[in-house]
Amino acid sequence: MTASLDDTTLIAVAITVDPDLEVIFFDTGFHFTEILNTVRWAMERYSLNLTVLRPAGDAPDVWAHGSEACCAARKVDPLDAYLSRHADAWLSGLRRADSPERAETPIVSIDRRGLVKVNPIANMTDAEYDTYAAEHDVIVNTLTLDGYASIGCWPCTEPSSDGRAGRWGGSKTECGLHL
Ligand code: SF4
Repeated sequence: MTASLDDTTLIAVAITVDPDLEVIFFDTGFHFTEILNTVRWAMERYSLNLTVLRPAGDAPDVWAHGSEACCAARKVDPLDAYLSRHADAWLSGLRRADSPERAETPIVSIDRRGLVKVNPIANMTDAEYDTYAAEHDVIVNTLTLDGYASIGCWPCTEPSSDGRAGRWGGSKTECGLHL
């Protein structure tokens, strides 16, 4: 399972089914301190079975090579390589309410890798998501309290109250993991 770590709602849902579920975190090299704090707190709270994927040392960066090459090297390629060796299926926290581009997100599908992809909270509305988070006292990334509705790497994330509008300065809407 991949998790964005804006909060731990998806983790809280998933570990009720399988406490040992493997959680994948992308250490892109460009995370906010608040994301790393959320990972640390999640490790302590949930005793996560965490796998950290890192890019090659000479991976392209967003300034010299642009966001497509940077996201590919630091997220998409590491996940593709890892899943091809270790998984028949994976979970993500995509929700239809995240953005117009995600409005048709299926609960279960076959992804471009030929793997089963499950989006267990795809049909959760924002209200249902917030209620679940409150009732289960999930860990919340403190940046969400500072106006970041969606949190990625610091070079590509601005505060926004409008879903994923603060990501990549509006130049794109997805990093490529879910295409
Ligand atoms: S979100 Fe930005 S910094 Fe992070 S991997 Fe993508 S382009 Fe690079």
